[in-house]
Order: sequence, then C-alpha cells, then structure tokens
Amino acid sequence: MSANTSGWRPEMTPGKADAPTTTGNKALMLEEPLIFEIGSTRTTGVDFADGDVHHDRLGGLTRKAPIGLPGLSEPETVRHYTRLSRQNYAIDLGLFPLGSCTMKHNPRLNEKMARLPGFADIHPLQPVDTVQGALGVINELAMWLIKLTGMAGVAMTPKAGAHGELCGMLCIKAALAARGEGGRKVVLVPESAHGTNPATAAVAGFTVEDIPATADGRVDLAALEARLGPDVAGIMITNPNTCGLFERDLKKISDAVHAAGGYVYCDGANFNAIVGKVRAGDLGIDAMHINLHKTFSTPHGGGGPGSGPVVLSAALSAFGPLPYTARTADGYVHLVEEGDADAFSAEHYDGAVTCLGRMTAFHGQMGMFTRALTYILSHGADGLRQVAEDAVLNANYVLRGLADVLDAPFAGSGPCMHEALFSDEGFADGFSTLDVAKGLIDEGFHPMTVYFPLVVHGAMLVEPTETESKAALDQFIAALRSVAQRARAGDASLKTAPHFAPRARLDETLAARRPMLVWKEPGAD
Ligand SMILES: *Cc1c(COP(=O)(O)O)cnc(C)c1O
Repeated sequence: MSANTSGWRPEMTPGKADAPTTTGNKALMLEEPLIFEIGSTRTTGVDFADGDVHHDRLGGLTRKAPIGLPGLSEPETVRHYTRLSRQNYAIDLGLFPLGSCTMKHNPRLNEKMARLPGFADIHPLQPVDTVQGALGVINELAMWLIKLTGMAGVAMTPKAGAHGELCGMLCIKAALAARGEGGRKVVLVPESAHGTNPATAAVAGFTVEDIPATADGRVDLAALEARLGPDVAGIMITNPNTCGLFERDLKKISDAVHAAGGYVYCDGANFNAIVGKVRAGDLGIDAMHINLHKTFSTPHGGGGPGSGPVVLSAALSAFGPLPYTARTADGYVHLVEEGDADAFSAEHYDGAVTCLGRMTAFHGQMGMFTRALTYILSHGADGLRQVAEDAVLNANYVLRGLADVLDAPFAGSGPCMHEALFSDEGFADGFSTLDVAKGLIDEGFHPMTVYFPLVVHGAMLVEPTETESKAALDQFIAALRSVAQRARAGDASLKTAPHFAPRARLDETLAARRPMLVWKEPGAD
C-alpha cells in the first residue's frame, strides 16, 4: 500500500449495486444467514431412525417437548461457524489499533503451556498434594507481579480488570472500616477515567466525584488537593491515563491523598507501557489491578476469559481476599483458605488476615495464569522492559506519522505513552470520527477506539502495541492517513463507508436499545 492511497470511489467497484451476485457473496466474503434459516427445527442432522426406548435411565427427566434447535448436518454446521468466524477481525489477521485495550500478539507458546494436561485437566477441588505444579504457577506469577510493582501482596483471584477494581475498592473499604473511618464515602475519579472506575466505586458503595483535567490531559493536582477532606475514601486514577499520558504528579497525588487519610487506587490496565520501568509501590499506590489479558498477552475480547490480579500495598494487603497461595521453606505450596488465614502469614505476604472473604469460587483463571507466566518467563525481566519501550516507541511513531493530517491535542506536551490520541478537529463540515472509523474498515483494519476518552472532542485512540513491525505501522498510518484526508476534504463516499464489509452502517442505537436475542419462527408470535 502506498502512502498516497486515495481511497475508495464508487466507480472502482464493479459488481456493486448495479451488478450484484446471485448469492450475495462477494468472492471470499460469503453471506451467511442465521443457523435457524439454514436448518429447520423440524428436521434432524443425523439419519438414525427413531429407536424404541426400552429403558429410560433419566429418572423421569426425559425431555417432553422438542429441543427447538435446527437440524443441520456436520458439514453444514462447520461451514456456518467457519463462515461467521471469517466476518470477524482478529489480532492474527492484522494490526488491531483499539486504544485502551492492549490488543497484542499472543505467542503460541502460551497456548501450548496452558493446554498441558497438568494445568488444563485438573479440578479446583483436587487435593492440594496433587496440584502442586499448578499452585506453584499461581504462586510464582504472584511473586513476579509483586516484584514488578514493588508492592506487598497480590490478590490473584479477580477475573477481569473491573473485577480487580472491585476487589481493590473493597480492600479500601475494609481498611477504612478497620480504622473506624467507614464514614469516608467519597471516591474521587478524574474526568479521563475508564468507565469502569466510577462504576466500580458506585458498586462498592461509594459516592463518585469528578476531578477535572488540566489543559495537558492530566489530573488537576490543585483541584484534587482542594477537594480532599475527612469524607474522602480515596482516589481512583489510571496511569498511564486514558489520554495515553503518564501522570507525572502521581507521587504528589498519592502523598496528598494519604496525608488526607485516603487510599490510592490505580487502574493498571495500561501497565503495558511501563512494565519494568516504573513500580506502583514507588508511586505510593495502595491497590492496582493488572489486566493479565492485556499486559501479559493472554487473548481477550468477545467475552473471553480475563484475569485481573490486584497488587496491594502493606496498608491493604491484610485485607485481600481468599484463597491465596503461599510457598513454605520446604517448597510446598499451600492454599490458604478460610479458617487457616493466618497459618502462613509473613512467609511471602505481609500479613494474611482477611476481611474480604472470596471474590471467586476458586483460585482464579488457571489458563490465564499459565499464559501470563509463560509470557513473563519467555521475556525475562529485560524483555519485559523492552516491551514497554517498544510499545511507547510504536505509539509515538503513529502519533508523529499522522500529525499533519490528524489533530493530536496533547502532542505539544511531549511524547505519549503506549497510545496516541487524536481529535476530529479539521474534518470538513458534517464529517466525524465515526466516518473515519468506518472508512478504516474498508481499508482492512479494525477501527481504533472512538469517542473515548471524553475529554477530547471526537476522540480517536490508537494503541499499536510493541509487536507491530515498522512495515505494519507504515501500512496502518498510510491507511488512516488516506481516510483522514478524505474526512478533511469532505469526500462524500466516506459518509456511506464501509462499502466492502458484509454490512454497512447499522442502527447501533436501535441494536443496543432493542436487541433481538431470540429467534422466532416466521409467523409465530
Ligand atoms: C480494559 C480496561 C479496564 C477494564 O478491564 P476488564 O478486564 O475489561 O474488566 C479498566 N480500565 C482500563 C483503563 C482499561 O483499559
């Protein structure tokens, strides 16, 4: 792809509208109806004759009505799902620029390790003696996370970033209650926070108050200091923040919050940009979740499993959830559960009293632990540091490579971290960030994150991650450049993009407000 790609024009697409195909297929882009429209609920995909049932072994639980699923043969079923899967964009197909998500390459080695029977085929209720290897993995990963963040302890069980936030905020709540200061109800959340932060604080029973941002996209320290007081439980702050910027004043912010009797929760979802470079503990943070599925390269998206361990400061680690692992001097890994919470204290964790109970039924996401530890060990400490450096370098390459066609509101205040933030400033009248995102689909890329963070008008947040080559970045920059130029020039064809995707512009509001989740046989009500 050359840098002067001029974009799609209607006359460039034979076979569109004026000459549609009989099938609706466009070469390898295949139309696919619903599975109910292919098979009928009245037929079966297998050709066994109905047998006489002599013995009902179901104790009276035999199904009385038809199951209501379409009968398809195996090849029909395989084709259906394979065709659907091809309509998805994937990290294995191309650069995935979704900011705030760290969509990075997932090394195949991780998958190989996670599928070893000793990790994949075990049961959480197996005797601890028989799963020493798996518990050892959890414990070793815990040690790495503590070391990488300079914290006192870690809760491994939370199953996503947001779940980790809840864990951390419940620790703060427990710590305040233990001090007899449960009356502190206000959690301060900067304007640029990820949406999960205020939601978590509210779910944990706190009241949320906004802290404004400065003109350079960071937390307004003076406004924060002015709001601190005896009703403030703490702050939830993202670092690097969602504008892709390092919060330079974080240590000052922590000191001020601590001096006022509050705790500092850090949203560590963007740890990818600083892993091996900066430790949360040195910044005065009390609790921070780490999205293993972002920073440590485990697959995510589409509702796949996540994992959000929370590292805790000495002030909070006594309040973390059960269960947790502890390795004793003889190498044996214990699983500390209710009832034996203080049996292994001070071995690896700073106190083991718990006020939280459990966040999950069992020990967390074993597959994600195995992938994350594999990733960490295959990179080593120096390799992890290079991950951060390369991620930041790549993001800055994108930021500077598009500076002449896209407005970058904070580029003037220095380099960005792992993601580049642009605004819609300079687009022709009537052209928006949405048009650019849709145009990028025609160019074969998943769109970047749009309209987030809210502090920037028509925000476009691009996170290339560290594994993209210069060639891949150049190709992406050329594509986004051409679409941005069309938005600046007011190219009408961009308003109806995407033209090459199976569906063009959907009524997303209607789809979200009135989703149709159940298939109904035509004619049935
Ligand atoms: C992804 C993300 C979260 C939420 O993490 P989940 O694992 O999706 O629950 C929170 N904050 C930020 C900044 C994120 O990028």
